[in-house]
Amino acid sequence: MDLDQQELNENQVIEEFGRQLLVPGISEAGQNNLLKKNILLIGLGALGTIASQYLVRAGIGSITLLDFDRVSLSNLHRQINYNKNDIDQYKSEISKTILSNINSVTKIDQYPISFESFLEMNDFDNIDYIFDCSDNYVTKTNSSLFAKSKSIAYSSISINSSEGIFFSQSYLKENNSYCFKCLFPNIDETNHRCLNSAMIGPVAGFVASLACSKIILELAKTNPEMKNEILLIDLLTSDINKLQLNKSNCNHTDE
Ligand SMILES: [Zn+2]
Repeated sequence: MDLDQQELNENQVIEEFGRQLLVPGISEAGQNNLLKKNILLIGLGALGTIASQYLVRAGIGSITLLDFDRVSLSNLHRQINYNKNDIDQYKSEISKTILSNINSVTKIDQYPISFESFLEMNDFDNIDYIFDCSDNYVTKTNSSLFAKSKSIAYSSISINSSEGIFFSQSYLKENNSYCFKCLFPNIDETNHRCLNSAMIGPVAGFVASLACSKIILELAKTNPEMKNEILLIDLLTSDINKLQLNKSNCNHTDE
């Protein structure tokens, strides 16, 4: 789809997104900027399903959904796109079906494959933003390094129990940018997956909502540029702290 061909008429904008247009920094121009943006969303678990809902409901022009996993009963307490009828179905397919009925403007593609498999398709020409909501350290490292290599704005979110991490890099400038491996240089992959971690749904909701608020407001700008930002969130203590990395730049390369 040629997104440049897609413009909302004024009545449609006001009817579907009127309350969002009232937010400072969005207005009708910002809504049309959102309509021209194409996001790659990696992972459709607790974080990704919530993110997919908010991004589509905001009127993002195009979203590509990636997840190789199928729905299981243990997912349902936190992964809001699914119900008991969806068990054993691909998360990406169910999510596309759910999200397709929300508005009249967002084009939705889905692939029931990993990020690494999607990379092999080499279909990144129109992607404006990569948002990694996966629970996999290797995927996050690969996605951040790929975004950096292509100068694509990037965010990743992670949760464990009552804690969350928001990691965002513009990757539009060479200096002072980090990949996910800079954040956890010595992590053991098996220790990072939230697959076996304690979790309640609202923690995912909080962290995904915080990230989506930042992404939507930024992509509504004519020239978006995400801040290089790392936030550590603890919902048990209600603390949100910015993390400063000591390294001046990232020297990691694709694995
Ligand atoms: Zn790095």
